Amino acid sequence: MKKIALFPGSFDPFTKGHEDIVLRGLTLFDEIIIGIGYNSGKSKRYFEVDFMVKKIEETFSDYPNIKVLTFAELTAAFAKKHNANYLLRGLRNTTDFEYENSISQVNRHLNPELESVFLITTPQFAAISSSIIREVHRYDGDVSTFLPYQL
Ligand code: ADP
Repeated sequence: MKKIALFPGSFDPFTKGHEDIVLRGLTLFDEIIIGIGYNSGKSKRYFEVDFMVKKIEETFSDYPNIKVLTFAELTAAFAKKHNANYLLRGLRNTTDFEYENSISQVNRHLNPELESVFLITTPQFAAISSSIIREVHRYDGDVSTFLPYQL
């Protein structure tokens, strides 16, 4: 059976840290679906979702086993719909861990076949966060070194 993982996130924007998790995930899974979710608990996006889909597709244009989709439902339900038995997530620090720990318990409760798999960040990408990139970009700072594509 094909091993399909869903890598869910806001990806506002998708960063080199995210790219690293996806590429390393490919050593474990046959296919990775990058799912851009609209989290109702979060405010409006900074980068348009369609723009981000295009940029992520461009980043992985050489990889037919990486897909980019958007979703507006429970992550566990979306994974099931796409036959993904794994959720791929990245961990940078203990703050990420606290959050990921509780969310993975809930996801498994919602879909018992769904196993969450966590990859520890590569040190050089550990400080990259979408929220900091948004702040820098908002004030016209150069964020190009943090992104795997041109804005
Ligand atoms: P969410 O809003 O669901 O937290 P994000 O787009 O911020 O979505 O992140 C998606 C996933 O990528 C999360 O598991 C997050 O911890 C991970 N991640 C974010 N930045 C990095 C990074 N620099 N290195 C490794 N993992 C990261």
